[in-house]
Amino acid sequence: MTLARCQLDATLKTLDADVVACHPVEGGHLVRLSETILYATGGGQPHDLGLVGGRAVLDVTRDPEGHTLHKLDGPVSGRVLIEIDWARRFDHMQQHTAQHLITALAADRLGWATTSFHLGPETCTIDLDTQDTPEAALRDLEDAVNAEIRAARPVRVRVVDPADLPGLDVRTRGLPENFTGQLRLVEIEGLDLNTCGGTHVASTAELQAVKLLGTSRIRSDTRLAFIAGQRALDHLTRALDRERALTRLLGAGPEDHAGLVEKLQLEARNAARQLGALHAEIARQLGAQLAQTDAPAALFHRPCADAKFLADVAVALEALRPDLLVLLTTSERDEGPGLFLIVGPPGKVAAAGPPVASLLQGRGGGRPGRYQGKAEAISLRDDAFSLLLQIARS
Ligand SMILES: [Zn+2]
Repeated sequence: MTLARCQLDATLKTLDADVVACHPVEGGHLVRLSETILYATGGGQPHDLGLVGGRAVLDVTRDPEGHTLHKLDGPVSGRVLIEIDWARRFDHMQQHTAQHLITALAADRLGWATTSFHLGPETCTIDLDTQDTPEAALRDLEDAVNAEIRAARPVRVRVVDPADLPGLDVRTRGLPENFTGQLRLVEIEGLDLNTCGGTHVASTAELQAVKLLGTSRIRSDTRLAFIAGQRALDHLTRALDRERALTRLLGAGPEDHAGLVEKLQLEARNAARQLGALHAEIARQLGAQLAQTDAPAALFHRPCADAKFLADVAVALEALRPDLLVLLTTSERDEGPGLFLIVGPPGKVAAAGPPVASLLQGRGGGRPGRYQGKAEAISLRDDAFSLLLQIARS
């Protein structure tokens, strides 16, 4: 395994290099360089972005021989300038070094070993080999991590021979099988010595702050989410924006938000219950009114109702006049689409359903005595009612 320049010096922002190979692949060109400062995806840390010879970097990977491969949006040749997207890289350095610090303190103070790490675009997570993470212990861990940030401990990279490893107090999950070449160690002075190929800040002070966001159970482990550095400040900014919006909407300060939302939810539930009871009452009265007709069929239209309201009117009507063939319709706008329901004697409903649906430019279906569906032209309901009357009289 050969080390990339960024693994020896993570602060390099530009570098000149020679193009060793460049060939077209799907969606771009795959390029090997004599040297690189662009980090390839690995160890839980995503790849860098930037420019190579003015071409945008789309992906950075490593081949089985350990060569860094740059996928660019076009071909390059000769001597090229590598420019790194520093904001993205520094963010990755902050999150990744924060992981080292959390891992070290979780192991030393609480006996929780880290089994995996993921650096996501929004938040980062580590999996800990425990199912028991009390709130108080997590608060202590967060306090300890931030105390080590204030202590401004130097973070250094050391390159050693694998044969020297047994003599060093290294925290490692083991080397890959058949590992050869130099071994890279990352040290947080006085705290941690770790085998790692990622990029790190030079002092824990550069982490600024670490915030633990919460835990979830993953099989027999606990997944702990966290953010560090600028992400923590950005997170706070977004939280304050949301808090200000809620203060404006609720007309009360943050300490009253939860109580007020609870009260509003309760009021909304009560209002919905009362509205439901009123709808049922109105549906019964409308059904009773329709039942008084002398004709063998009836038409009922109500703007902006729902299927349940139509069904409630139909039930009230059927109880009084099971002989009546009725078309019930609703739509938000008179010209727009809507719902229809036909109820009455099963034979008549079966005969009326398909032609009425077709006339209203819709489709439907149902069971004996009921045919319902959606239609595009509820405004043609008077024509549909004429058809219904013919069928009712036949
Ligand atoms: Zn690392």
